[in-house]
Amino acid sequence: MQQEVIIVGGGMVGLSLALMLVKTNIAVKLLEAVKYPDYDDENLAPYHSSFDARNSALSRRSVQIYQELDLWGALQEHATPILEVNITEQGSFGKARLVAEQEKVESFGQVIENAWLGRVLLTQVKKEPLIELIDGVQVTSLTQDADFAYIQAQRGESLLKLQSKLVIAADGRDSFCRKALGIGASEHYYDQVAIVTTVQTSKPHHHVGFERFSHLGPLALLPLPGEYRRSVVWPVKKGTESEWLSEENDQHFLDALQDTYGDRAGKFQKTGRRFSFPLSQVLAEKQAVGRVVLMGNAAHTIHPVAGQGFNLCMRDAHVLVRYLKEQQAQAADLGDAVVLQDYEKSRLNDQQRVIKFCDSVVRGFSNQNPFLKLMRNTGLVAFDTVPGIKPLVANYAMGLKA
Ligand SMILES: Cc1cc2nc3c(=O)[nH]c(=O)nc-3n(C[C@H](O)[C@H](O)[C@H](O)COP(=O)(O)OP(=O)(O)OC[C@H]3O[C@@H](n4cnc5c(N)ncnc54)[C@H](O)[C@@H]3O)c2cc1C
Repeated sequence: MQQEVIIVGGGMVGLSLALMLVKTNIAVKLLEAVKYPDYDDENLAPYHSSFDARNSALSRRSVQIYQELDLWGALQEHATPILEVNITEQGSFGKARLVAEQEKVESFGQVIENAWLGRVLLTQVKKEPLIELIDGVQVTSLTQDADFAYIQAQRGESLLKLQSKLVIAADGRDSFCRKALGIGASEHYYDQVAIVTTVQTSKPHHHVGFERFSHLGPLALLPLPGEYRRSVVWPVKKGTESEWLSEENDQHFLDALQDTYGDRAGKFQKTGRRFSFPLSQVLAEKQAVGRVVLMGNAAHTIHPVAGQGFNLCMRDAHVLVRYLKEQQAQAADLGDAVVLQDYEKSRLNDQQRVIKFCDSVVRGFSNQNPFLKLMRNTGLVAFDTVPGIKPLVANYAMGLKA
């Protein structure tokens, strides 16, 4: 028996989840508020509300999931492997180094521009006969009873009325669906924005990713396709961005990068346009209520310091689909509240581990107290010298240990 679910929100998570569901022969209606771009130039991936100027470090687990979906071939063209990670703190002696070859893995993950990730996902979604994609529709009402969940969505002048046994809300951090169901969320707004851009350096990246903790904030420099292109994600104190965002301040921004990084990457020669993202941690109090499941940022939005947010969402989506596949095989109700709650329980350990880790890195490295600085350095030295720590951390970062 063919069953259908509704996904609200066709961002990176909603699109990926839709592709996972149709692999198990579950049909999908996907509702997205913002019109998708037309891809008329094969070399360009225009931005969308979810896939914008950011780049994502995909963990090995996320790559495996895209391989299962037969999508990795198309994504790989736009991705670059991370073969080594160096972690340092400005003005300190400690240094931690993780090398893929030493950990006996092909790579720690792959970096991809979100715009390309989105383009590849959307192109595939449009080819799937089991997915009905409706963009330019804003979901404005979500209710449920014992039998169905009901949605109303505004498309221009017209009102769309839909119902389904299961609604998956992947509508982002400020999730309308979460609020419509009265699900509370704990919200913490960091006093930070992430500056995001792409730069060119005079030295090739050799597939090395850097994380450098500085008094301005933790600066991540990741390799991108093209030997000299690197992705910058720099969470800084709110207000710092006002000096860096405008085009006439390109040189000022390049100088700040140079000061913070030294010459490890050679000279910072060119910078793309800078974008800023306010940072917060928003955690839903429940993720499964009746016939509705929250997914992606709607369930948990976390600080990007360790590049874990999307990877965590991919693991959630993959596990949910496993539960739904079993229901589908028995022709059972996909929106069975008990099954959805079991799914939620099964994900809590992994989610809490990642959430705590990211939050404690942000808090731990933002304090400039000299004693704490010494402790951090000792930690970095221990990380680099004590046997057994590296494989453990590498496995967590790659999303292979939940
Ligand atoms: C600076 C930065 C860098 C990051 N880097 C990494 C990284 O390297 N690795 C990693 O794993 N993660 C990273 N993340 C996290 C990652 O970007 C998020 O986890 C991911 O974007 C979540 O996607 P989503 O689809 O859940 O939400 P969103 O991207 O917010 O998408 C939600 C979608 O729902 C739509 N929508 C909203 N409301 C409605 C409505 N009422 N009706 C219909 N549609 C609606 C929106 O238009 C949007 O398209 C980073 C985050 C930031 C801020």
